[in-house]
Amino acid sequence: MQKHYFKEGLVGREWRQDLCLTVAPDGVITAVEAGIQPPRGTDIQGPVLPAMANLHSHAFQRAFAGLAELKTPGASDFWSWRQAMYHFAAHMSPAAAEAIAAQLYLEMLKAGYSTAGEFHYLHNSHRDEALAMSGAIIQAAEATGIALTHLPVLYQASDFGGKAPVAAQQPFLHDTADYVRLLKVLDARLEGRHRLGMAFHSLRAVPAESFAPAIAAIEDISLQAPIHIHIAEQVREVEACLAATGKRPVEWLLDTQAVDERWCLVHATHVTEAEWRGMAERGAIAGLCPTTEANLGDGLFPAADYVRAGGRYGIGSDSHVSVDAREELRLLEYGQRLTHRARTLLTGADGGHTGLQLWADAAAGGAQALGQPVGEIAVGKRADLVVLDAEAPAFVAARGAAVPDAFIFAGQPNPVQHVMVAGDWAILDGRHKDEAEIYGRYRDVVAGIAASLGEGA
Ligand SMILES: [Zn+2]
Repeated sequence: MQKHYFKEGLVGREWRQDLCLTVAPDGVITAVEAGIQPPRGTDIQGPVLPAMANLHSHAFQRAFAGLAELKTPGASDFWSWRQAMYHFAAHMSPAAAEAIAAQLYLEMLKAGYSTAGEFHYLHNSHRDEALAMSGAIIQAAEATGIALTHLPVLYQASDFGGKAPVAAQQPFLHDTADYVRLLKVLDARLEGRHRLGMAFHSLRAVPAESFAPAIAAIEDISLQAPIHIHIAEQVREVEACLAATGKRPVEWLLDTQAVDERWCLVHATHVTEAEWRGMAERGAIAGLCPTTEANLGDGLFPAADYVRAGGRYGIGSDSHVSVDAREELRLLEYGQRLTHRARTLLTGADGGHTGLQLWADAAAGGAQALGQPVGEIAVGKRADLVVLDAEAPAFVAARGAAVPDAFIFAGQPNPVQHVMVAGDWAILDGRHKDEAEIYGRYRDVVAGIAASLGEGA
């Protein structure tokens, strides 16, 4: 048993002082005590928070984050970004995918994320490669120490009505039987802190008849496994869904599928009140990715109304234009402030500290969406912790429960000092033990792909 002492921290949804956490050798918290005087000479660490779950990642997109900002007259929107994504996807080998994912997961850990939900659709063109591409993601998680919920993606069509995929989409495709086989093999492969879930790419990429067999396959493996889907991200997608089915995307999903607490509706940007109320009633998670949604010009999910109605959410870094939980949460709150011309909108009906509630809600929602025993400092949860630098300028004036407010809204530079995953320190004093080697591999791989793209241009 290890004992860790902290000056203060977020326990459940309360800010408590003088904490002692006991962690078993398997990385699970077995005792949480507050108001404890540590033995003389004990190292007392800074404020502690539950580590954040990053519920939506496409790891390979880290390699071209920031490269879709050139305006081409008449084409600088989501769909031109997608062309850039196809370009990189076509050049991705398992080794390249592993090097890029390892760099990304290292950056996530340094930002305070302990768990990554990998929405993995880059299976490559050959069926045999699908396992190798998933293996690359698992290896990257192992290399960095992050916990993984692997979400292999079913992708079968280029648009509603089962429209045939285009050539650039070949690396994403599976027929349903192959996909079910992949789930079974991966289930045997994922162990320890890693979990398996499944994902439908979107309603436009998966014909209605493929839902039932895929869900039956994952339920065969586990009745708790998460089910994710990109949904209602773009107005054009909503219009296409209405034209094809007579229903809006979230409406269609709620009407035709047994959406419940296992489901994570990623983006859900364009929803009516009936749709977001339906999501809240079912206990599903809204998988919000504010920096990517802003980058792509998607629009704003009605988060303030949804949270007031008891809706649950978590955050993801998606395309990785930002890998920083604070920035996702700050932008989530600011989007609502700019819309409603008011402040402190995601605190829920009873008020309280905005930063504390943002962190607590997103950590719990992310944990639910990824099927991981994290997201809260509590007995029985995994010891995934973020320790803040008590000496950081942000915390000189911030006292008690205002610490998470200062962390999220004014914590620059990033005051994350240490990050623990399952009882082990993955980040100490802002550094990972293998970061130079991980960065070196990333640099070599990405420079190579960028050079080959230059030749093709
Ligand atoms: Zn996505």
